[in-house]
Amino acid sequence: MENPGKISHLVIVGGGTAGWMSAAFFSKVFTPRQMRITLVESAEIGTVGVGEATIPPITFFNQVVGLDEGRMLAATEGSFKLGIEFVGWGDPAGRYMHPFGNYGTPMDGVSFHAYWLRARQRGYKAELFEFSLSDLAAKAGRFDWRAEDPRDPRAAMAHAYHFDASLYAKLLREVAEGRGVQRLERTIRGVNLDPLDGTIASLALDPGEILAGDFFIDCSGFRSLLIGEALKVGYDDWSQFLPADRAVAVPSARYEDPIPYTRAIADKAGWRWRIPLQHRTGNGYVYVSDHIGDDEAADVLLASLAREHPENKALADPRFLRFATGRRTRSRVKNCAAIGLSSGFLEPLESTSIHLIQHGLIKLAGSFPRAKDDPAAAGIYNRILGDEMEQIRDFLIYHYHANRRVGEPLWDRLRHMAVPDSLREKMELFRTRGATIFPNQTIFQEPNWLAIMMGQAGEPEGYDPLADLMDERLLAERLHHMRVACRQAADRMPTHASVLARFPADS
Ligand code: FAD
Repeated sequence: MENPGKISHLVIVGGGTAGWMSAAFFSKVFTPRQMRITLVESAEIGTVGVGEATIPPITFFNQVVGLDEGRMLAATEGSFKLGIEFVGWGDPAGRYMHPFGNYGTPMDGVSFHAYWLRARQRGYKAELFEFSLSDLAAKAGRFDWRAEDPRDPRAAMAHAYHFDASLYAKLLREVAEGRGVQRLERTIRGVNLDPLDGTIASLALDPGEILAGDFFIDCSGFRSLLIGEALKVGYDDWSQFLPADRAVAVPSARYEDPIPYTRAIADKAGWRWRIPLQHRTGNGYVYVSDHIGDDEAADVLLASLAREHPENKALADPRFLRFATGRRTRSRVKNCAAIGLSSGFLEPLESTSIHLIQHGLIKLAGSFPRAKDDPAAAGIYNRILGDEMEQIRDFLIYHYHANRRVGEPLWDRLRHMAVPDSLREKMELFRTRGATIFPNQTIFQEPNWLAIMMGQAGEPEGYDPLADLMDERLLAERLHHMRVACRQAADRMPTHASVLARFPADS
C-alpha cells in the first residue's frame, strides 16, 4: 500500500494475539522504508492466554500475511474446523451443527432452503443438514478443502482452524520480526498526550524511556491502556443481553483423534466448550457468576472431562478469567485504534474475537490515516466496526434467547428477556417467512442464521413464495440429486486424522 506520508511510525502496544496479528499484517501492507513499526510488550504483564477456535475468514488473513496453511498448523498444534456443534441449546436433549459453508445450491436466484421448506410442507422427509457437506463431513470425522469448480459439491464448503492462539502469536512474531518489526520488551508506565490536540504523543516506558509515534494501535487487552485509560473512551456494557461474565479453562490430554468441529454444550449457568487440537483438548466453562461460584464451575468442568472419557485428564490447574461483555463506544479516536480485547469482548460462543481483530486490521488499512488526527476516516471506521459488533451481539443473544431449557432459572430468564429490536425483527421474519437474509450481513450470512434458527426454533411457518414457481417433479429430482451428491462427496473425503497427519505438530 502506498504510504500517504504523514504517518511514518506505527506503535503497537501489546504482544498478545491482537498485537502480533497487527504487526504481521502492517509489516506486509507497508515496506520498512514506508513505515517503521515498533511493538511493545511487557514480560511482567502476560497475555490472556486463551482462544483456540476461529472462523473461515482466518484463511484469508493468513494468505494476506503470507502464512502457509501447513506451516501454521504444524506450528500451532492446529486442526481443521468445519463448524460448531451446539448441544442442549434448543431442546435440552437435542443437538445441531452450525456448519461452515452453504446448504444446497440456490436455484433460479432463490435460496435453496426456500425449496426445501416448500418440499417439507408437502411431506418431504430429508433433513436440512443432509444438504450441508460441511455438516456431514464434520460428523463423520472427515475433512476436505473447498473446491473451486462450482459443479463440485465441495464448492459449498468452508473451513477454519482450532489452534493454540499463543503459538499462533509466536509464529506471527517470527513473520513480523522477519519483515523488520522492532520488538521492545518494556512495561508502559504512562501515556503522554499532546497538549494542543489531545493526540497520543508518546509512551513512557520502564525504566525512564520515551517512545514517540505517529499512530498507535492499542492491543493491550482488557486493560485498554490507550483508548480506555488515556483517551477516556467509554464502554457500552451489553451484559443485560449476554450476562456471562466469567470463564474457567483447562487443557486435557488427547484421548482420540481430533474431531473437525468445536463443541458448545449448554449447562446450568452457561455453556462449556471443547476444542480439539493435535496434542491436547481445550476445555472451558463460560458462566454467569450470579448463578454459580468459581469453585463449583471448576468442579462442573472437571467432572465433565471425566464423564466424556476416563483418559480425558486435566493437564493443568483450572484458570479463571473475568470479563464484561460489550465494546468501546468508539474504537478509533485521534491517532489511536483499539484492536482485540481493548476494543471490547463478546464471549467465545461463535469464535468471533480473532475474527474481529482481523476485521479491524483490514478496515484500518482501508481507512489508514492521512494525518495524525483524521476524524472522517475514524468516523467511518467506527461505524463499520460498530455494525460488525452489533451483528455478532444479535447472533450470540439468539442462542441464549431461543432456548427451550424450561425450569432452569438462568435459561428461563434469558428466554423471556427483551432482545434488541434488530434481533426481534429477524426472529419475526424467520418465523413467518423462513427468511434469513438480513441487512448488513458480513460476518454471519444467510446459511449461518439458518443453521442456528433451524437448530433452535425449528421449521418456520412460511417460505419465499418464489420457490413455488418451480415444477414439482423437477424440484423433487433436483433435491434428490443434491442430497445424493452431498452424501457421496462426504463418503469420498479422507478422514480428518489422515489429513492432519500431513501437518504434524512441530513440538
Ligand atoms: P492479551 O492477550 O491480553 O494481550 C495484551 C498484551 O498487552 C500483552 O502482551 C501485555 O503484555 C500487553 N500489555 C498490557 N499492559 C501493558 C503495559 N502496561 N505495558 C506493556 N505491555 C502491556 N477468541 C477467539 O477468536 N476464539 C476463541 O475460542 C476464544 N476463546 C476465548 C475464551 C475466553 C474465556 C476469553 C476471555 C477470550 C477468548 N477469545 C477467543 C479471545 C481471545 O483470547 C483474544 O481476542 C485474543 O487472545 C486477543 O487478546 P489481546 O491480544 O487483545 O489481549
